Amino acid sequence: MRAFDYHQAVDSGQAVEQAVRRDGAKYLGGGTNLVDLMRETVERPEMLIDVTALSRDIDETDAGGLMIGAGVTNAAVAGDARVRLRYPLLSRAILTGASAQIRNMATVGGNLLQRTRCAYFYDVAASCNKREPGAGCDAREGFNRYHAILGASSSCVATHPSDMCVALAALDARVHLLGPEGERELAFNDLHREPGERPELETELRPEELITAVELPPLPMAVRSEYRKVRDRASYAFALVSVASMVELDSNTEDETIADVRLALGGVATKPWRAWQAEAVLRGQPATEETLAAAADAELAVAEPLSGNAFKIELARRVMIAELSQRIVDARKGGES
Ligand code: SF4
Repeated sequence: MRAFDYHQAVDSGQAVEQAVRRDGAKYLGGGTNLVDLMRETVERPEMLIDVTALSRDIDETDAGGLMIGAGVTNAAVAGDARVRLRYPLLSRAILTGASAQIRNMATVGGNLLQRTRCAYFYDVAASCNKREPGAGCDAREGFNRYHAILGASSSCVATHPSDMCVALAALDARVHLLGPEGERELAFNDLHREPGERPELETELRPEELITAVELPPLPMAVRSEYRKVRDRASYAFALVSVASMVELDSNTEDETIADVRLALGGVATKPWRAWQAEAVLRGQPATEETLAAAADAELAVAEPLSGNAFKIELARRVMIAELSQRIVDARKGGES
């Protein structure tokens, strides 16, 4: 690891000021990804600005949602009674990720900005466009079982690794930012970029912008939301396919129809993947197996498999249909209560 300077920020404004003053500075959350990357010399910051002491509360919003500070640990979010009751998929997604030790260290802000676990990205002897623009991509013809079938480009096929972010994509969360120009908000689904020709650019953050909070809007149907993760082993593994889902039924129509739905995928795409195509097929349609299959097929119509991950297309299709079926069962029970 290379030598670096360290600064502990006392508030968000001071953190941003420090980042503006110092070239090569990076914000430090729990360090569960950034420090690993520094050890491998993939990341080489001149200075770390520690923001872990900032924004550590979870507050009610006037709109009836929750505002989660960027410094709140993943464990604290997952264990919060309001999150568990009103947004259970978020709690569940976090608990399927990493280990208890990592969840106790990792922060919300850091989780959003964690980088891919593509092995070639970590191996400085490999060719990787994300680490070294223009170098090539060893994953395309290499070991790509864990790589993306959606949102990829000829430059990069790496998946986004976060479970929590898949839940946030489904929840229509908003990201609160502070930068040299002041505060602004971004829709969570606009935060991450697809790689295109610039895989080294992963988010829409402006230089020196700091994530200060993540806002969950009120969403009544989220009380029946779920997150399912399919992986090679039962714990401490990244998703092959994961699905975040919730469904609202309209039982007043002659055919029971899907009034509203949220669906997002993990493990298959270059960013937390909101299944917009599938949702469009589902809304207003009868809650039947045929509708669910048509929705899954619509979402996966543009999937492009690599040599080692064609199985993800059928796996994603099956998990989407199974999860939506179960959410419909849950919604019927919810309607009776
Ligand atoms: Fe690098 Fe992306 Fe290729 Fe992995 S998939 S080697 S991160 S360019």
